[in-house]
Amino acid sequence: MSEATANFGLVDALEARGISRRSFLKFCGSLAVAAGLSATAAPRVAMALETELENAKGGLFPVLWIEGASCTGCTESFAQIETPDVGKVVLELIALNYSDVLCAGAGHSLEAAKEETIQNGNYVVVYEGGITQGFGSNTLRVAMETGEEILVHAAENAAAVIALGSCAVNGGWMAAYPNPAEATGVSGILKKHSIATPVVNIPGCPANPEWLMSVLVQVLMMGGAEGLLAGDVPAVVKTLGLNDEGKPQGIFGETIHDNCERRGHFENGEFVYEFGSKEEELGYCLYPLGCKGPQTKANCGVTMWNNRRSWCIQAGSPCLGCCEANPNDPGDNWVEVNTPFYKRDRDLHIGDWFFRPTVVAAGLTGIVGAAILIHRFGMKKAGRMDGGADFEPIRAWDAKNPDRSIGQYEYSVMGDPVKMKAAQEEIAKQYEVAEEAAAEDEGR
Ligand code: SF4
Ligand code: SF4
Repeated sequence: MSEATANFGLVDALEARGISRRSFLKFCGSLAVAAGLSATAAPRVAMALETELENAKGGLFPVLWIEGASCTGCTESFAQIETPDVGKVVLELIALNYSDVLCAGAGHSLEAAKEETIQNGNYVVVYEGGITQGFGSNTLRVAMETGEEILVHAAENAAAVIALGSCAVNGGWMAAYPNPAEATGVSGILKKHSIATPVVNIPGCPANPEWLMSVLVQVLMMGGAEGLLAGDVPAVVKTLGLNDEGKPQGIFGETIHDNCERRGHFENGEFVYEFGSKEEELGYCLYPLGCKGPQTKANCGVTMWNNRRSWCIQAGSPCLGCCEANPNDPGDNWVEVNTPFYKRDRDLHIGDWFFRPTVVAAGLTGIVGAAILIHRFGMKKAGRMDGGADFEPIRAWDAKNPDRSIGQYEYSVMGDPVKMKAAQEEIAKQYEVAEEAAAEDEGR
């Protein structure tokens, strides 16, 4: 079918909302780029969308967008997409049946709509945020269910789960040390409950909304749906080109460094060592300021943000490595691995002990040699290259503002496993009492 003869039901729907065909094609171009295709694939994406939506006649997969332990940043990012109307119309047409944040409805009726979708089957779950298991899983409850129960119930019958954002992939911020809430990602929980539903991991903090749209379009409209309906996991994996971390290879196959506009300066050894410097003005490479581009895999420099207006490095920020989230290794968590963000070193930790490389070095003979050795160990472990700025024993702002420092934890509970366990048990007990009271209320 040529573009000219395609059924324009979707375009009509868009035009009724004042969205031109040109904007729609631009949107499809973004989806194509986000999927790792050339922007010239836009007409093909447009045609597939139009045809599938028309053929489906309302029979497309419903989508349930469920919040775990999150800041809702991924939803917020999605809601701020530059072409919101196009994205929203497409999502409406694919039936966004439930979203804690975006749905106008609330309470029992919204929960009932979710349950009905689950019972009917053939739906996709978008799960945002981590899943907390500590404190009897009571740190997150919606409609009296824990985050873990909600995910397990929704995932069991789903055709696929899209783990959206780094918290959903392997815990992200929620799982950062010392992780008292024992947060983890979607894949870890599904494995724990032996649920075989395919998981598509889209990391990022927040995840780029165009990545989500591109995956939804591929899953729901461009062949993935057939695989899902047939329960054919390999077909879904093939359609999306998922790698061994369950991430679409077209989006997460290359490093930020591979597609960075400052790469030429890196090769020439032209670096920014200080914000506000002449070198920064000249747009030199941000590696000494902690840029995690060389070890972070995502196509941010290609997809960019806000309708390809700019992105982190173009805006002058080193890449923080927010897409570094390995679902097979909770320790490979972007907050754990990449802090402090604007430095080239990190805390090393063994179990519950963590320390700065400089501190260790000071306690050893041959101070300089040890510092270099340990520094290299840290760099190697984090997949970084040699060189960069000096270690920072204490954050400069914290040193100047000791009364307001956020550089140190208050360990009254968190550093004491016995106290922490007691606190967890107490909170779990309180929730049990609350649950019993709620059940009694319902029984009345
Ligand atoms: S180190 Fe960072 S700023 Fe420099 S070229 Fe690589 S990705 Fe770009
Ligand atoms: S450039 Fe780096 S910090 Fe920015 S969104 Fe991409 S991975 Fe995250």
